[in-house]
Amino acid sequence: MDSQSARISGSKESSILCPICQSRRQRELYPTHGGQLVRCCDCQVVLFTPRPSQAELDRYYNAQSYYEHYQSSPMGQAVFAQHRYQQLCRVLRRYAPYLLTQQPRVMLDVGCGTGQLLAVAATQGWQIQGIDLSAAAVKQAQEQLGPVVQRGTIAEIASSPNIYDLITSYHVIEHLLDPVLLLRHIYKVLRPGGAVFIETPNIDSLGARLRGNRWSHIIPPEHITYFNPTSLQRALQQAGFQTIQTLTIRPQVIESLAHIPLFLKGIASLAYTVAPWMNLGASLQAIALKPSCHG
Ligand SMILES: [Zn+2]
Repeated sequence: MDSQSARISGSKESSILCPICQSRRQRELYPTHGGQLVRCCDCQVVLFTPRPSQAELDRYYNAQSYYEHYQSSPMGQAVFAQHRYQQLCRVLRRYAPYLLTQQPRVMLDVGCGTGQLLAVAATQGWQIQGIDLSAAAVKQAQEQLGPVVQRGTIAEIASSPNIYDLITSYHVIEHLLDPVLLLRHIYKVLRPGGAVFIETPNIDSLGARLRGNRWSHIIPPEHITYFNPTSLQRALQQAGFQTIQTLTIRPQVIESLAHIPLFLKGIASLAYTVAPWMNLGASLQAIALKPSCHG
């Protein structure tokens, strides 16, 4: 019921500068985790406030406990990588099919974790490169893939422009104070005609609407910036991308079904299947192209 009692207090000026569109007009959604979720009135991005500092985030991610948590989540398991790669190819075939056949084709995965997706891509003809901030994840990825996986940020690793044909980034931007900065770096290091593929939780999904501040993705300080199709499109535009497609998909793991009575499971399963047709799918994806000629 928390989502239905969300306070809509109308737009008001606040001290938060929207990291996507620089607006200061936000409306309060609901209290959570000792703070508030607010929605930007201009680009619709949802922000956890108070915003943690970068130093606080660095401390959080450098802790061993974060990596152990990551290891135990479905995202870190190899079984998902194959499915994820196939899903990625479906989107590429539709919006950038040339990327699947050209030679050579170079892919960078930003936030690659233990490198499971890269391992699948390497078997399909991609030259692969990966970066992640977790030393433990990178060490494990290097054992399988070698030095193509490095620890660091895209700003540190990919310093020269026009290198990659495809850059993927799964469930990274919702962790960032300034997602547009990452997208600008991605734009710079993509080749003209190259594509970025982003996946992030959909704050306007059916699950998020039904569960409000009990939605499983509301986990500050890990998730602090939440997107819907409109705000993700806006973020990519701010970074320079022009040709942008967004879609939503049903989750690979429907965690929220665990909590409901058995007789409702069938109805809920159907709702989650239909939800992506109305942009209500749990995960939000975007593919955006860097123009093939500089103009
Ligand atoms: Zn905004």
